[in-house]
Amino acid sequence: MNDFNFHRPQDVAAAVATLKKAAEGKYLGGGQSLLPVMKLGLAAPTDLVSLAGLAGLKGFKLDGKALVVGAGNTHAEVAGSAEVKKAIPALAALAEHIGDAQVRNRGTLGGSLAHDDPSADYPAAVLALDATVQTDRRAIGADAFFQGLYQTALQPDELITAVRFTVPEKAAYAKFPHPASRFALVGVMVARTPAGVRVAVTGAGPGVYRIPELEKALTARFSPDAVGTVRISASGLNSDGFASAEYRAHLVGVMAKRAVAACG
Ligand SMILES: Cc1cc2nc3c(=O)[nH]c(=O)nc-3n(C[C@H](O)[C@H](O)[C@H](O)COP(=O)(O)OP(=O)(O)OC[C@H]3O[C@@H](n4cnc5c(N)ncnc54)[C@H](O)[C@@H]3O)c2cc1C
Repeated sequence: MNDFNFHRPQDVAAAVATLKKAAEGKYLGGGQSLLPVMKLGLAAPTDLVSLAGLAGLKGFKLDGKALVVGAGNTHAEVAGSAEVKKAIPALAALAEHIGDAQVRNRGTLGGSLAHDDPSADYPAAVLALDATVQTDRRAIGADAFFQGLYQTALQPDELITAVRFTVPEKAAYAKFPHPASRFALVGVMVARTPAGVRVAVTGAGPGVYRIPELEKALTARFSPDAVGTVRISASGLNSDGFASAEYRAHLVGVMAKRAVAACG
């Protein structure tokens, strides 16, 4: 790991200003993705700007039909939040099954979204719940935020401050976890709102994505049987030592059925 300067600003404006000044700076959330990447020599930032002192990134707030979750909340805080359990229990359950206890106690919502691992769990919730990612300078809709393998709409010095999740009528997340890391080999989030059903898939492809045919079928008939009427294509899906593209396509169907059934 290379040497780096460490900064611990006290507010969002100071954090952004510090990163702007750095030659090759990075924000440091829980360090659960960034530090392994640095240890492997895949990133060598000159400056780490810690977000740990930014009180404004914590907290949960119900705002009309949306639940606003601070980007600095750890996965364990999201899993344990009474507000989240009441408004969107599926989100609390998703957070409860991320990684292990250490990852859940350090890793943050903002870090997970900025890193945008193709097997991460939160992107499925953000996309299915039609959430808005709030940064220090703008609001980015979920459909525009995720742009492919480790690619988001964020500018290099842009700081995620909160995520505004639409509270659904019903929602559930079903994941087939990797047995070691608990990352999603395939994870499917299904959310029903008065505007229709949204289905988001993580782990199966190079980035999180929606399945419009499945959304249409489930909007017409919200039942596990309706999932079976849609053919899930393996085209473009990941194929590796853990699972072939065809097996992942099969899992998408199975996880989608389980998620719809879990909506009750
Ligand atoms: C063993 C292990 C198992 C895991 N299992 C899972 C799993 O099952 N499911 C899952 O979803 N994830 C899993 N993870 C990943 C974990 O959820 C990470 O915590 C998360 O991906 C990154 O969050 P972080 O706060 O640690 O971010 P960091 O590692 O600190 O940062 C990651 C990236 O995000 C940037 N960043 C951080 N915060 C912000 C912000 N607020 N605004 C803008 N940029 C920011 C950083 O600059 C960096 O580029 C696992 C990780 C490990 C090590």
